[in-house]
Amino acid sequence: MEELSRLVAEAGEKPFRARQLFEGLMQGKAVSSIPIPAPLKEGLLSVYEDEPVRILETFVSRDGTKKFLFLLADGNIVEGVLMKYKYGNTQCVSTQVGCRMGCKFCASTLNGRVRDLTAGEILGQILAVNRAEGGNLKDRRVTNVVLMGSGEPFDNYENVVKFLRLVTAEGGIHISARNISLSTCGLVPEMKKFAAEGIPLNLTVSLHAVTDEERRRTMPIANKYKIAEILDACAYYFERTGRRYIFEYSLIEGENCDEKHALALAALLQGRPCHVNLIRLNEVKERELKSTSEKEAYRFLGVLERKGVSATLRRSMGSDIGGACGQLRARYLSDRRSS
Ligand code: SAH
Repeated sequence: MEELSRLVAEAGEKPFRARQLFEGLMQGKAVSSIPIPAPLKEGLLSVYEDEPVRILETFVSRDGTKKFLFLLADGNIVEGVLMKYKYGNTQCVSTQVGCRMGCKFCASTLNGRVRDLTAGEILGQILAVNRAEGGNLKDRRVTNVVLMGSGEPFDNYENVVKFLRLVTAEGGIHISARNISLSTCGLVPEMKKFAAEGIPLNLTVSLHAVTDEERRRTMPIANKYKIAEILDACAYYFERTGRRYIFEYSLIEGENCDEKHALALAALLQGRPCHVNLIRLNEVKERELKSTSEKEAYRFLGVLERKGVSATLRRSMGSDIGGACGQLRARYLSDRRSS
């Protein structure tokens, strides 16, 4: 609202136009379709995109999960998912085109990072889906958000924080920080900085290993930050926000899912105000790594539970439509290259 008020004032228009624009944009409307005076509209469109994010294609899974390919104004593509639960609908958004973190199991990082998304492009994914699903600002079809699409949110810190302020703003789509999860591969300085932003969301850290040495095998970022430093940053986040934190642990055959790993993970996390989300690796065709069996996954979960560590094994959703990180964009780009 502040930015819009300034723009409207600079254009010499009445202040109520700012509210009108805010509401129109938050409903996912293109600037050109909002009934404002022509000079204001033309002025805005000479600087800003009319429609920063457009849904290019929608794929619907047998389980109701929807996957979207979004077209950005410069022709880049990002993807997102909408998962339907009893308590509401969770949208997974991307924060960068591609990613430069280089995790060995992830499809988003196959071709590196192309560019950061702006705050408006991150928000635009949600506004476009809310609108396409028949929602509005009162009756929202997107109630929860996870920053777990392509990109490393803390590698695009300023835009992500601005996005979080926009998506939680009153009068907009107004999604509570408590209904938002941000996942990071563990950029320690940004985790600490974020603790002071006053945005009490669910901080999620991709751990995927129990020792630094093993973590370095699949996650290059482990060369920069140690697990101990990550745990310290999590403890600081809890101290500042009172929010417990979550670890993601993808079970990879022959890599991180033996009983000794489960025991070591339990020892690492026992007594901490945290929760572990286990997920069986989603196999990516460009990558060698294999998923563990369901039986092994339950065994791993059992060890954590016996040791008193709060944990759940996540259901896989939308696997028939390329639900995993970056898979859909990778397929789209390769189809486009070969056609
Ligand atoms: N860059 C952020 C957020 C994006 S990924 C991060 O690293 O946390 C969201 C989660 O999916 C992360 O935990 C990531 O490690 C995990 N992930 C990526 N590819 C996966 C795959 N093929 N199977 C299972 N989990 C995967």
